[in-house]
Amino acid sequence: MKNTDMIIGEAVEFFKKYVMERNITLDRLKLPERKNSTRPRKKKTQINASSLGRCPVAIRLEMEGHTPQFEEFVLKRMAEGTAIHDLFQSITERYWDGIEERYTDSQLVGHIDGRVGNAFIEIKSTSTLPQKPEDIFPKYWYQVGAYFRLTGLDSGYFIFIDKADLSNIRVFRMGHNVKDQLIQLANKKVEEVFSTNLTDVSFVGNHCNGCPMRHACLALEKHKENSIGQLDKWINSEQNL
Ligand code: SF4
Repeated sequence: MKNTDMIIGEAVEFFKKYVMERNITLDRLKLPERKNSTRPRKKKTQINASSLGRCPVAIRLEMEGHTPQFEEFVLKRMAEGTAIHDLFQSITERYWDGIEERYTDSQLVGHIDGRVGNAFIEIKSTSTLPQKPEDIFPKYWYQVGAYFRLTGLDSGYFIFIDKADLSNIRVFRMGHNVKDQLIQLANKKVEEVFSTNLTDVSFVGNHCNGCPMRHACLALEKHKENSIGQLDKWINSEQNL
């Protein structure tokens, strides 16, 4: 009987062969239309697993119904990601026991890209393939930590697809050894989000650049005030010399 590693390996090889034989490239894919909406969203009581890597203020704002506003280049990147993701799912569909399964608890909700037996897969497209686990964006670890917590599955696989060459793929397996650690990471962030009070925000993330919640963020405003205050102090002290 085939084990999960073998099934994932076969699915990836099948996809690689498929895109190479048909010369499928990103610029030949039809990108879904992605636009910013300004309509307020419904308030949510759960955090979306795919948002868990964001700043806690951004997550709270989104839960309160503020609509994210993405910059043009981010919208394009998201559309490309969706197109590659859909391509991979449709070509490898036969390998998976489930696709886009939804899991939920009282604080989190998430959809896994696919499941094979007791393992989930998470598809990512990127312009630079990670060579080792340390190269993977930290925000992705929160997302998979949330999936481990929600699904109770034993293992998970990241499948990274190179945007410049869709047949260039790297797979990372996350097994028992990291499962508990990732769940703890997710739990800690969930706690942080639920204890973030938007009327008295003090958190300032180091990822404000490009944040889709900047338009509604009081923490950013405070940060600006503080920086300007510090700058004033510095200028004054220079003048006093
Ligand atoms: S602008 Fe910065 S502090 Fe505000 S929500 Fe975004 S990342 Fe967080």
